[in-house]
Amino acid sequence: MVRLSRILLPFVLAGLLAGVVLRQGRTQPNTFKRVAEGVWFREGDLKGKGHCNNIVIEMKDYCIVVDANFPSGAEECLADIKRAIGKPVKYVFDTHHHGDHAYGNPIWTRHGATTLAHKGVVEEMKRYEPKRWQEAAASREDCKKLNLPTAEPPKETFSGAKKVISDGSRTVEFHFFGWAHTRGDGFVYLPKEKILCTGDVVVNGPYNYMGDGNGANWPRVIERLQKLDVKTVLPGHGPPSDATLLERQKQFLLELRKAVQAAVKQKKKLEDLVTTEGTMKKTTIVLPERVQHFVGDFFPSQVEYTYKEITTGKPHGEILGGK
Ligand SMILES: [Zn+2]
Repeated sequence: MVRLSRILLPFVLAGLLAGVVLRQGRTQPNTFKRVAEGVWFREGDLKGKGHCNNIVIEMKDYCIVVDANFPSGAEECLADIKRAIGKPVKYVFDTHHHGDHAYGNPIWTRHGATTLAHKGVVEEMKRYEPKRWQEAAASREDCKKLNLPTAEPPKETFSGAKKVISDGSRTVEFHFFGWAHTRGDGFVYLPKEKILCTGDVVVNGPYNYMGDGNGANWPRVIERLQKLDVKTVLPGHGPPSDATLLERQKQFLLELRKAVQAAVKQKKKLEDLVTTEGTMKKTTIVLPERVQHFVGDFFPSQVEYTYKEITTGKPHGEILGGK
């Protein structure tokens, strides 16, 4: 018995370590990795190039790509698909309207792909464009190079809760569960492989942008995701994880709201919670250790958006972009 456990110990440790690595995750920007049979994860270089992650799903005769990325990210992803898979891209699904997920649309359509999204993505673009596209084109060479007046909306949309694409070899589900990170948040779910692509509703690290969001509804959307049978979570930013990431992301959002709510109850003003020093924002709000994985540079802004949501009774996206 002793001998057996001694033999097994390295394997047990290796298994535990693999679990920890999967949960904590190590960032490996610009890598293109197979995460399941015919499912590839390209980790975007967020810090260097502002890129989101891409997921490539291999069908029998073509590929489905999750997120258009920025134009330069689209080109890098296309090169990896050509090199590693060699099948044409038929669909590119925009999980939402943000530039790092959708501004690469023209690159994909020029290569013959159909861009696809929930109809909320087109509606969000109507609210925020062409302003954001023009700002991006002023600061990013890849957007400027396209020489377009505004963002290219997805060519095909679905308006219900679910759309399915199947070619006999694989079934791919596209879901909409309501307003969390944006009003057009779409998810890609592979029921057989139990893989969920979450866009920016669930990220692995301190990457939550809440400006266009609905902080009160966001955890409810994650609860709907948790009803799916999920083994692997492929987030919009940060490395892949297992299903525990869903709960951890939800807990961060709940703790943030709870802390700000308590401050509002104590009649604290926004200036008491968030201060600006130069270009840096600081906050007096401190969250528990167990959700610190999600606390980073955006945290003071997250506190500010949450404060405004609670005191106005409106989702921040409505404060910023209107109805
Ligand atoms: Zn986003």
